[in-house]
Amino acid sequence: MKRVVIIGGGFGGLACARALSGCRTAEVTLLDKKETSDFLPVLPDILGGRVSPDTARAPLAARAKREGFRFVQDEVARVDISGRLVHGRDNLYEYDRLIIAAGTQTNFYGDETTARLAFKLDSVRDAEQIGAAIRETSFDTVVVAGGGYTGIEVATSLRRLAQTHQLNFRIIIAEASRRILNALPEWMAHYAENNLAHMNVEIALNCRASPVADNQVELSNGQIFQSAMLIWAAGVRTPSFVREIGPTAEKQERLAVDGCLQVADGIYAVGDSAAVVAGGQSLRMAVQFAVAEGHLTGENIARSLNGKPMRAYRPRDMGYLVPMANHRAYGLVLGQKLRGLPASLLHHAMCAAKSVGLRRKFRMLKEMF
Ligand SMILES: Cc1cc2nc3c(=O)[nH]c(=O)nc-3n(C[C@H](O)[C@H](O)[C@H](O)COP(=O)(O)OP(=O)(O)OC[C@H]3O[C@@H](n4cnc5c(N)ncnc54)[C@H](O)[C@@H]3O)c2cc1C
Repeated sequence: MKRVVIIGGGFGGLACARALSGCRTAEVTLLDKKETSDFLPVLPDILGGRVSPDTARAPLAARAKREGFRFVQDEVARVDISGRLVHGRDNLYEYDRLIIAAGTQTNFYGDETTARLAFKLDSVRDAEQIGAAIRETSFDTVVVAGGGYTGIEVATSLRRLAQTHQLNFRIIIAEASRRILNALPEWMAHYAENNLAHMNVEIALNCRASPVADNQVELSNGQIFQSAMLIWAAGVRTPSFVREIGPTAEKQERLAVDGCLQVADGIYAVGDSAAVVAGGQSLRMAVQFAVAEGHLTGENIARSLNGKPMRAYRPRDMGYLVPMANHRAYGLVLGQKLRGLPASLLHHAMCAAKSVGLRRKFRMLKEMF
């Protein structure tokens, strides 16, 4: 039996474990620091109160039992490549094959004050904490740092939360560059901008936000808010143990991989952990790629353990949709521009389709519509 260790029970790690479930020559251990697999695309919907936390998290122990792998809750601190050993906070794990599927986490760019005082949105628990803090403390203002798709989703969800709980606060998106959605086509930025104005969300461009003290936020345009919350949505990067494994690429510092998603002999990276270049461009961080890469890697490991050659990864890009909390979304699907309610409905349907188990799929659909 060969020991296969998967680090991360998100979309990529679980797809890999599932693909290995029929392999009789592999003993699969999946490590995750949390006891649940969180459905990240609906985190803004949780803080906006549309989706319940339980719908968005699936217990990993139950999944492991169903699919025949061992789940251990442990946080990985480092990987010893020459010793083929994973160092968890609680234990050591020997491996013959290793899959890095640890996703990304909020990037505070080394600023400890921001890391201490700002809220982040990396998990269902983080979404619950933001929602609870807003309901319990009467902030005048919530500043969202970052005008990318996450920042915009968060800001619109906050407006929904304010409306449903009759709370009264300003919502400001602080974006460091000259326009929101800097990495996406201009028409999407216009569409989002109009919708944000309609939802009474303000935008401060060429502007950085930083926390001054508890509940005090400063903008680089000189504005200071004395009763404010700061939500940091200004970038993500891979966890530090991932960055130590091999050469990284992109601003998120994802691991460089070969055509079969290998970082080095016997070590693979999938999903947000991997920098996959296709057609001269890096793939976006998205559920569809994480699932496809995890699945192929599971199959490739099974093939290699049975003496068969591995298959190269050929990504298929179905496109993307970016939702906002008032049932407006925008994006490109199969090369077609989509916006408005139809785009939003399609996004909800995709979220339900990707959820784990029939009950959770129905719950996701019911709550999102
Ligand atoms: C707010 C938000 C909205 C998004 N919306 C969309 C969308 O609409 N459509 C889309 O396609 N994509 C969306 N994404 C991106 C998508 O969620 C990711 O691309 C996808 O989750 C990547 O899957 P993954 O398996 O690589 O990582 P993840 O799903 O992030 O899983 C990583 C796992 O690794 C675990 N882990 C991390 N560090 C350690 C450690 N040291 N030790 C042990 N375990 C560890 C984590 O607990 C986690 O369970 C969104 C992301 C966010 C944050």
